Amino acid sequence: MSIPSLQPATGTVIEPLAVTFDAGQTVIDLDLAFLARRLAERGVVVERAALAAAAPAAWQHYDRLVDPAGGHPWRELMANLLAGAGIAAEQIPALVEWLWAEQPRANLWRAEIPGMVALARELRARGVPVGVLSNSEGRLAELLAEIHIADAFDAIIDSGAIGIEKPDRRIFDHALAVLGAARGIHIGDSWPADIAGALGAGWRAIWFGQRATPVNEPRVAVAHDADDVRAVLARWLAE
Ligand SMILES: [Mg+2]
Repeated sequence: MSIPSLQPATGTVIEPLAVTFDAGQTVIDLDLAFLARRLAERGVVVERAALAAAAPAAWQHYDRLVDPAGGHPWRELMANLLAGAGIAAEQIPALVEWLWAEQPRANLWRAEIPGMVALARELRARGVPVGVLSNSEGRLAELLAEIHIADAFDAIIDSGAIGIEKPDRRIFDHALAVLGAARGIHIGDSWPADIAGALGAGWRAIWFGQRATPVNEPRVAVAHDADDVRAVLARWLAE
């Protein structure tokens, strides 16, 4: 399959338009190999494969618990994942608390989603201002630097650092100001935070991930992987 170019059609005048990426489940994912290594430090032996086998059910459980207003039941996800991977029930509460306490220092979301960082670099190389726009804990810039992807973005906008969370439109307005753009396209996996937030701020949005489903809204496109995102951006950036 040939991938459409992101180059605008000859003669097209592009207004300053920024592209922002959500972080968790859009650019970075839970790193199960890293999680297995952290658990080994606590004397708990679990194979990455066992965690991977337990992950789909744990994410389904998480989806059922996510508060439409933006709550993120991190502990529930982790407890369900560890139980599904066969870790003894009596060990799980203390392990989950330890992992949560370690999260600012050793963030478990450090696996790259295939193709998304390359796409960000490609957009930047073509002169499109590119940012990360994430509801995070205030240490996202450090994490992205640690995993060597911070330089793919012109700006890293972290709700924990500025005190405004998606879907509040002020964080989207802030992103445009930081990126020096008049309009935005946001890519993210959470309908309430990313997609509803972007639409509320007057942006277009790309609903990303395996769990995104078709919607009857012309300002929203659905993308299951980085190639889908690239195809949508090729179309929208050329308009
Ligand atoms: Mg996300």
